[in-house]
Amino acid sequence: MKFARLLLASLAMTTWAASPISAQQAPLQVAFTFDDLPAHGPLPPGEYRPEPIRSIIKTLKTEQMPPVYGFVNGFRTAEYPYQTKLLREWIASGNPLGNHTWSHPSLDKSSAKKYIHNIAENEPLLEKVDPAGDWHWFRFPYLEEGDTMAKRNAVRDYLSDNHYKIAEVNLDFGDYLWNDAYARCAAKKDDAAVASLHDSYLATADEYITYSRTLSQRLYGRDIPYVLLLHVGAFDAKMLPELIGLFRKRGFEFVSLPQAESDPAYSVDPKVAYPGGGLLMELVATTRNVTLPNATQPEDELAKMCR
Ligand SMILES: [Zn+2]
Repeated sequence: MKFARLLLASLAMTTWAASPISAQQAPLQVAFTFDDLPAHGPLPPGEYRPEPIRSIIKTLKTEQMPPVYGFVNGFRTAEYPYQTKLLREWIASGNPLGNHTWSHPSLDKSSAKKYIHNIAENEPLLEKVDPAGDWHWFRFPYLEEGDTMAKRNAVRDYLSDNHYKIAEVNLDFGDYLWNDAYARCAAKKDDAAVASLHDSYLATADEYITYSRTLSQRLYGRDIPYVLLLHVGAFDAKMLPELIGLFRKRGFEFVSLPQAESDPAYSVDPKVAYPGGGLLMELVATTRNVTLPNATQPEDELAKMCR
């Protein structure tokens, strides 16, 4: 009897110690990443193309962020050759570049062959601007990793044969949606609307921090290091200091993409065709029949603003 009681007590202690909400847990970690360099989304009147990127570079420095990956679509530099300079400024500031395809195709709407050609088409530019850099990180446009297993496998084979690592995403609040609305509201000089965009951007980011943390707990029983998807848009640039502040307030420390993805959660390939794209955790959840948490969808509301 005595033994049984002791055993129960020790089991209870083990359970408590392994609890994901234990106060002993290591700090939360997140890697910020930016897509669509050198240009993303419309600009408000009076703002010029180099400004969002230069502002982001400045904020990353002021906030003493670790190196932040920027994912490049080279076709912009073919249209506007001066934008190559913005890529060089990104590297010169200590932030690395990665491959985001040449012209941002949707893998769902493309053949694997055309898509792979589009990845390769981006490589001479990356090699030219960053010959010494670790630019063999690939970010799938729209997070579409393949709507069929055949496409998924073909692209992954190309990536692994060419020594790429996949820059997965595990935190995404649809930041890009605010850039269009901001450009419209700023053009109408609607200060109240811009103020509401400011508030909803941070509130939605906060909600999706909870979304990803909840999903991570359901899948892994812990917080994995998160990788956040952002874009080099005008509103993203404007909001970046406060977004970094929000993550600090929620207990996060900042790590680089390679550091975050050194976690074993990132070495698991869920091997699932997933039309429409999603977070790595969302793909894993479908293979394990884990329910996704609820979250608001800001898209319709933002699309209506300042029309
Ligand atoms: Zn993109």
